[in-house]
Amino acid sequence: MYDLIIIGAGAAGLFASAYASKYYPERKILVIEKTGRAGTKLLASGSGQCNFTHAAPPAEYLPHYGKKGKSLKSVLYHTDYQFLIDFFEQLGVDSWIREDGKVFPRSLKAFDVLNALIGASRGRFIYNTKINGISVFDKYVEIDSSQGMFQARNVLWACGGKSALGDAFDYDAYRLLEALGYRIVEPKPALISPQLLQYKYACLAGISFTDISMTLIKNQGKKSFYRGDLLFTHTGLSGPVVIDAARDFELGDRLRFNLVGFNNLDRLYEDFVLKMKNNPQKTIKNLLLSYDIPEAVIVALMSELSIDRQLNSHNVRKDKLRALLERLIGLEFEIKGLGDWRKAMATCGGVDLRDINLKNMRSRLHSSFYFAGEIVDVDGDTGGYNIHFAMGSGRLALDGMLG
Ligand SMILES: Cc1cc2nc3c(=O)[nH]c(=O)nc-3n(C[C@H](O)[C@H](O)[C@H](O)COP(=O)(O)OP(=O)(O)OC[C@H]3O[C@@H](n4cnc5c(N)ncnc54)[C@H](O)[C@@H]3O)c2cc1C
Repeated sequence: MYDLIIIGAGAAGLFASAYASKYYPERKILVIEKTGRAGTKLLASGSGQCNFTHAAPPAEYLPHYGKKGKSLKSVLYHTDYQFLIDFFEQLGVDSWIREDGKVFPRSLKAFDVLNALIGASRGRFIYNTKINGISVFDKYVEIDSSQGMFQARNVLWACGGKSALGDAFDYDAYRLLEALGYRIVEPKPALISPQLLQYKYACLAGISFTDISMTLIKNQGKKSFYRGDLLFTHTGLSGPVVIDAARDFELGDRLRFNLVGFNNLDRLYEDFVLKMKNNPQKTIKNLLLSYDIPEAVIVALMSELSIDRQLNSHNVRKDKLRALLERLIGLEFEIKGLGDWRKAMATCGGVDLRDINLKNMRSRLHSSFYFAGEIVDVDGDTGGYNIHFAMGSGRLALDGMLG
C-alpha cells in the first residue's frame, strides 16, 4: 500500500514527488507515467530554457489566469516565486530573473530542472504504464494498470492536458475521470496563435509592435480589451497579446488592433489633414511614418488598397485615405480556427473547478483524490505562470494530504 500514487510525471507530478521526498520523507510514493520518460513538456518549456516561475508578488499573479485568477488565491498565495527559487537552489539549481520578471535556471537548461526534480525524488517511478481502471474504496484506491494492481491511500492526478501531445498519444485522463463522475470543461487549445480568415500579411513576418491595444469582438458585438506585444508571422499573428488571450477566442470572433495612438477615426483624419497642410510636398507614406508605424506595414496596407505609395498626399482620393486611416486605427482579423493542439502550450478547460476544493486541491467527490497542474481547468499567460501553477498546486495538494 502506497501513501500516495502520483499519476503523471510532468511538471506537477515531478515537483510533487520531489517536494514530498524532502518534506514528507517517510511516505511511500509511486509515480505512474504513461510514456517512456518524465517531463517531456518541461524539457520543451521556454524553448528548452524552462521559464518556471515569475518574479512578482502573488497578488500580481491573479490577472494572469484570466477570469479564474481570483479563485486561485489559495494556490498562488501558498507558493510564491521565491519559494520555488529557494527550492531549486537547495537542489543545486540557481535561478536567473530576467528583466521582464521571467525566472529561468541560471544555466538556461530545462534539463537541469528536470534532473534536479528526478534526483530529489525518492519514490518509485514506473513508465510506459497504462491505467485500465480505478476503484475507489472507503480507505484506499486501487489502480488497475498495465504493470499490475497498485493500492494507495491518496492519488494525485497530475496528467496534464491535451496540449502539445504527440499524434500517437491517447489522452485518456478526462475519460477516466468522467467515468468516476467528474465534470470536464470542454478543452480548447490555449497559448496558441489562432487561424485567421484570409490572412494577407505574410509579407510582414517578423514585424512587431510593443504594448499595442487589441480588442476582441464577439459575434454578438461584446468587446474585451487587451494590451501587449504583437508579432506578425508568415501564417498569422503571434506575440503575448494574442496568445495569452487565446483562452477567450471562439470561431467567428474578430481581433482589432490599434496601430496608432488615436482612438477616434475623425481625430486621426483631422490630424493627418493638418500634417498634409503643413507638409504639402510629402508623400502619403512619409507622412504616415511620423505615426511611428513600420514602413513595411504602411506599404502593405497601401498596396492592399491600391494606393500608389509615391503619390503626394493631396492626390490621394478622400475615400481611400479614410479607408487607410481606418485600418491603422483598427486593423481587423477574423478567427477561423482556434489553433492546432500540437502547437498549443496550454489547455483551457479540464477538471471543473467546482469539483475541486481549491483550498487544498482535494476532490469534492472522493476524499482520497487531489489534483495539480494542467489537468485542472486553469491556464496561465506566458511568463512562467503555467509551470508555477503546476508546482504550486502540487505543493498545496501534498500539504493538504500529507501535512
Ligand atoms: C512548447 C511549450 C513551451 C512551454 N513553455 C512554458 C514556459 O516557459 N513556462 C511555463 O510556465 N509553461 C510553459 N509551458 C506550459 C507547461 O509546460 C505546462 O503548463 C506544464 O508542463 C503542465 O504541467 P503538468 O505536470 O500539469 O502537465 P505535463 O507537463 O503535461 O505532464 C503530464 C504528464 O502526465 C502524463 N500522463 C498523461 N496521462 C496519463 C495517464 N493516463 N497515466 C499516466 N500518465 C499520464 C503525461 O505523459 C505527462 O508526462 C509550455 C508548454 C509547451 C508545450
